[in-house]
Amino acid sequence: MFFIAAMAAIPFLPAGPQGAVQLLGSLLIVVILLFGVRLHRPRFALGWRMLAFAAGYTVVSNVAWRVLQQTHVIGTSASVDLLYYTIYPALGAALAVLPVQGRKELRFAGYVEAGIITSGALVVWWTVLVDPYVSEAKLAPGEFHVVAFPMLDMVIFALALRLLLLGGGRSLSWLMLMVSMGALLTGDTAFLIALLGDHGPPLVSLECWMLASALIGTAALHPSMAGAPPVQDADEARDIGTSWIYIGTVVATPIMSGIFLLTERTRLGVGDIIVPVGATALTAALVVARMRQLNMVTRRHATALQNSLSMEAELREELRHRAQHDSLTGLPNRELLYERLTSALAGERAGALIIADLDAFKEVNDRFGHAVGDELLLVACRRLAEAVPGGSMLARLDSDEFAVLAEGLDPAACTKLGERILSAMRMPFEVQAHQLFATVSIGLRELDSGLLTGDVLRDAYMALHEAKAAGRDQMTQFQHSLSEKKTEAARTVERLRGAIERDELIVHFQPLIRLADERMTGVEALIRWQPQGEAMVPPDRFIPATEDSGLIVPIGAWVLRRACEVVAGWHRAQHAAVVSVNVSPRQLRELDFAAQVLSVLSDTGLSPASLILEITEGVLVASGMVTEQAIRHLVTLRARGVRVAVDDFGTGYSSLAYLRDLPIDLVKIDKSFMPVPGEGDQAARTMVKAIIDLAAGLNLGTIAEGVETAEQVALLRELGCDRAQGFYFARPLPAEQASSLLTNASWGSRVS
Ligand code: C2E
Ligand code: MG
Ligand code: MG
Repeated sequence: MFFIAAMAAIPFLPAGPQGAVQLLGSLLIVVILLFGVRLHRPRFALGWRMLAFAAGYTVVSNVAWRVLQQTHVIGTSASVDLLYYTIYPALGAALAVLPVQGRKELRFAGYVEAGIITSGALVVWWTVLVDPYVSEAKLAPGEFHVVAFPMLDMVIFALALRLLLLGGGRSLSWLMLMVSMGALLTGDTAFLIALLGDHGPPLVSLECWMLASALIGTAALHPSMAGAPPVQDADEARDIGTSWIYIGTVVATPIMSGIFLLTERTRLGVGDIIVPVGATALTAALVVARMRQLNMVTRRHATALQNSLSMEAELREELRHRAQHDSLTGLPNRELLYERLTSALAGERAGALIIADLDAFKEVNDRFGHAVGDELLLVACRRLAEAVPGGSMLARLDSDEFAVLAEGLDPAACTKLGERILSAMRMPFEVQAHQLFATVSIGLRELDSGLLTGDVLRDAYMALHEAKAAGRDQMTQFQHSLSEKKTEAARTVERLRGAIERDELIVHFQPLIRLADERMTGVEALIRWQPQGEAMVPPDRFIPATEDSGLIVPIGAWVLRRACEVVAGWHRAQHAAVVSVNVSPRQLRELDFAAQVLSVLSDTGLSPASLILEITEGVLVASGMVTEQAIRHLVTLRARGVRVAVDDFGTGYSSLAYLRDLPIDLVKIDKSFMPVPGEGDQAARTMVKAIIDLAAGLNLGTIAEGVETAEQVALLRELGCDRAQGFYFARPLPAEQASSLLTNASWGSRVS
């Protein structure tokens, strides 16, 4: 308000009050600047405070000038003006300090660009506006300094211009500052011209000065003063706009200088041409500096680009490596093996694919935790790597599944390699103070021309499964009969699916004989399959296939129910007998196995004490969730009076200690222990005796299987075996025949 009033009033005021108003204006600016800083709390208050200082300094030097003039202490205007010159560093520093956010080189670019434009403008300003007056005024050499005011204004203007150039005019406060500096320049130029023409301060100057003050004040009060405007990001975007200004300046400056020199050459002295020549040179120098800087920036961008390109390549390589390698062992993974195998087959190279699977890795994991499991894998991997010759690829296919692609080896060498791996893995592993056994099962498939990658893998897996089924810790080489067997098994399962409904399954009963009095005390239920119009199929030919497919679960349940029904019928006819039913490991994995057995017992009315469940050793010895589940089932059932027998005892590979700890009642001595007649097998005899003694010591009953001769019966009786079962007494028989045997008061004659 004050400034508008002052600007309106100034034309009508005499010189004295004009000066007073001006002074008051300057003083007000100081206050407004400081107030603005307090109000908006700009992030970079220093520049604004310095502006306030420069304004304050103007007031002081104005007052000093007046005092000195009135007291006539100083004579020449030059020495008075000296006081004014000192304002410029303060003002310039304030503007230079006002920050622009952005990278360093952009800030530098701001100075250079402002310099180029300003020095171009300087040439025009000088040649068109000022020099004609200067040369007319015939200044004495000592008086030339008067032109310095507007020239310093130019520098200040350039500093303000730089803010605008960089900020892209986005801050209103910055814009006002620049216009304010422009007003100052205009005012001082008008003043200079008036001075050279020996006039007093012209009205234009007074108004311009007042306008400059008003704009600085408004800039300080505007909220946009609080933050530094961000530099326009893209250098290119700025360059397109500013390059036209460059071209204009760089072309116009020498042209203007040239015209000036040509038209005025008659009267020109050194003083006249020093400004345009100097400014043109300065423009050129600044353009070169800016170019150099741009060049540097470009080079840096190029280097950064190159760096990021090579980093990207590295990353891509790293990702590729990761995608093809296992993270735990660092070995190639399935994908890479597949690639290598494919190229080996394409190159018709000799060799074999060997798949080695740890036999009890899951148990180790369950029992000792994953940390131990992982370390076991690492140690196993190292041992495998030692066994594998150079030129062959060792890969990890799955958690505990490794593969070796042996290339360039003949079949015999491949087999040897497989055996070497087997024996290397038989040594115990030391892992975190545990001694672990981690044998492997191996499937081997030789590479043949004409085979596809998928075929080789499939065949090797088939061989591996065969090795596992045959009892682990061994190698199976793929043969075509294997795959035929597999297809046959699949076909069997298909045909068996409807066998229960079609009534094709039968249960036969083989008598169990008490050796003490040779009486029949029970039966073992044994399944048979009688497909329509075909010969009877023994269980060994179809049970394994049903285990793999899970079909054993409904079939086993059916056998249990049927056997219990039959024997419960005998009980109702007053013929007491126990029934022994085979249970597959797969059945024990069912969550409701125990409940199923109990419900069969209650449905058929058979007492639990009359049921024996036969399980194999393996079910109970391995550790892990599945085994725990199986044991829980057996514990539940035994609590209700059902008994548990270990079938085929002695054919497993586990320790004897478990006999003491596990929920069992009986041991069925496998038929392979029966001494062969005539051979007087002393070793077999010793074994049977040992088993019987061990069982007796643990309070377990014994049943001998596969008894075929009277000598064997005599021996078993002598060794204290409780019961026996075998062709010597009876083969497995249909229910009615078994039932009629049971009704015989005593075991009269042998039944065949
Ligand atoms: P296992 O449980 O050990 O059954 C005894 C096997 O030995 C029977 O063969 C039986 O016929 C045979 N055997 C009996 N006495 C003699 C003998 O004096 N000499 C010889 N050499 N063999 C004799 P089978 O019936 O062929 O059964 C074979 C196996 O099939 C059984 O072995 C059992 O493991 C399995 N199995 C049979 N029925 C079932 C069933 O319902 N469920 C399950 N999961 N497995 C069954
Ligand atoms: Mg059995
Ligand atoms: Mg058996």
